[in-house]
Amino acid sequence: MNKPLVLVVEDDSSVRNLITTTLKAHDYRYLTAPSGASAILEASSHNPEIVLLDLGLPDMDGVEVIQKVRTWSNMPIIVISARSEDTDKIDALDAGADDYLTKPFSVEELLARLRVIQRRLIMMKSESLAEASVFTNGKLKIDYAAGCAYLDQEELHLTPIEYKLLCLLSANTGKVLTHSFITQKIWGSSWENDIASLRVFMAGLRKKIEKEAGSPQYIQTHIGVGYRMLKVE
Ligand code: CA
Repeated sequence: MNKPLVLVVEDDSSVRNLITTTLKAHDYRYLTAPSGASAILEASSHNPEIVLLDLGLPDMDGVEVIQKVRTWSNMPIIVISARSEDTDKIDALDAGADDYLTKPFSVEELLARLRVIQRRLIMMKSESLAEASVFTNGKLKIDYAAGCAYLDQEELHLTPIEYKLLCLLSANTGKVLTHSFITQKIWGSSWENDIASLRVFMAGLRKKIEKEAGSPQYIQTHIGVGYRMLKVE
């Protein structure tokens, strides 16, 4: 199987070199773009499988690049941002980015994020083939048509909100969903109060699906950002 083609958008040549050296060492194919305009051009002409996107670009905001790409493609985008750009990171996720890496990052971290995205790509492909009405992930199963969820063959007794949350996370497995994205989908608004309620409902849901509260298997917390459902082997 061909390794995916990765578009590396980064104006800082030392970071760009670190990334491309890593990709090369792990048999990924790659393209590079040092600016927003060239990123959009490369993305549209080569249709890469994954985009690694620096948010601080010389000619435009990385969020703008995401918005442009999203008008024609769902290609997975991993945002790379400096720690000082935390709110930009959330804006980027809300604009349609899939995941993020915070600078400085390690090579292992980069490779791990790429693997998450690759699993998501495989899942998206198999889902579109099967038109899945049943979702399975590890021991978790959701029968969307029946509106029931199971863990280890046993039906879970979820409240309507918990069930909605579980469906939303599962439909986006591998993708980081921001607090405001989730509250918009669940309650149609994203006030501070909704985010506080979200924490309460999420705690309730986790109590029902996670075997060990200390090391959650299915739902990962991104402090100050949101949540992600992980693909469980
Ligand atoms: Ca930069």
